[in-house]
Amino acid sequence: MKIAVLAGDGIGPEIVAQAVKVLRALASDGLKIELEEAPFGGAGFDRYGDPLPESTLKLAKAADAVLCGAVGGPKYDGLPRLQRPEQGILRIRKELGLFANLRPAVLYPELVGASSLKPEVVSGLDIMIVRELTGDIYFGEPRGRRDNARGEREGYDTMLYSEPEIRRIAEIGFGAARKRNKKLCSVDKENVLETSRFWREIVNDVARKYPEVALSHMYVDNAAMQLVRDPKQFDVVVTGNMFGDILSDEASMLTGSIGMLPSASLDERGKGLYEPIHGSAPDIAGQNIANPLATILSSAMMLRYTFNKDEWAYRIEAAVKKVLADGCRTADIYETGTRRLDTVAMGDAVLAAL
Ligand code: NAD
Repeated sequence: MKIAVLAGDGIGPEIVAQAVKVLRALASDGLKIELEEAPFGGAGFDRYGDPLPESTLKLAKAADAVLCGAVGGPKYDGLPRLQRPEQGILRIRKELGLFANLRPAVLYPELVGASSLKPEVVSGLDIMIVRELTGDIYFGEPRGRRDNARGEREGYDTMLYSEPEIRRIAEIGFGAARKRNKKLCSVDKENVLETSRFWREIVNDVARKYPEVALSHMYVDNAAMQLVRDPKQFDVVVTGNMFGDILSDEASMLTGSIGMLPSASLDERGKGLYEPIHGSAPDIAGQNIANPLATILSSAMMLRYTFNKDEWAYRIEAAVKKVLADGCRTADIYETGTRRLDTVAMGDAVLAAL
């Protein structure tokens, strides 16, 4: 199993080093993986004048999975759009055909105070948002500006989903639900949108292949409300690009800790790019204080979703739970009465717990 490691910028190299340490420990325990690093984002620009250098793209394409840190920083903010580090992320998603974004929102019991919701509403939260990433109103044509019949200027976009696009994201949603608590909620706006009526029809059809998964449907406005009213009713949520954009950010913030949240973006064959949901945190880069747990948990998602190694993924997740239970905290999640660790020490604590 070949893994391309693209550490990127800011805190990227610091946090990715901790995840690599964990993966290497599993490798010495029998997990058959090979890791290869390449410059990406601002680091790619510094070395080759391109945020996604040819050699990095080649490595990412040849690998079975990609582990990313984060990209970007003030140093690059003045660059022309196509040379900016963030373009590297957009281009690699496109080049690898990553159409499915998986974002778990898990609230660890020890961090319940970090949530903006009441403990009884949110404790035990463990949900997964599956967002379609390459279709919908963000990409539909035609789009643009025009003058209408009354001579007024207007702007317009096209919400559009093809049957294969809905089928493949529904399959990912059902597949994820099957590995979890076997509940899938498909979110749409079927009462208003033709695209959503079609979406629901296809999702219902795919459901026939997964009799063990309980499927429900919910309107997006209600889903936004239910996520803050009673988020624990959800197991896996599958939805389109725009609804997913909004709901996945809403869901991730229920846990209150950006340094804890991993993500996966998958292609048709299950190859994936795994990264923390946060950015390169230039304000704390180079200080050895960033929280590496989101990146370590991203590597667990890689083992589960690309390599189908659930038991190895579980070992990493259990190790993270243990260090939190033991009172280990990085600065971003520190509370009085816990132990404040730096980035490297947190990586070491996870290793010890493994
Ligand atoms: P950010 O997520 O980098 O930081 C937001 C805040 O959260 C900061 O105060 C930061 O210190 C803190 N934070 C983030 N990750 C942390 C961690 N692991 N441990 C402790 N604290 C953490 O968002 P931003 O400041 O808006 O963006 C900074 C740069 O990152 C920008 O250049 C932006 O474009 C880029 N960015 C990249 C990605 C990506 O690579 N996928 C995603 C988002 C932002």
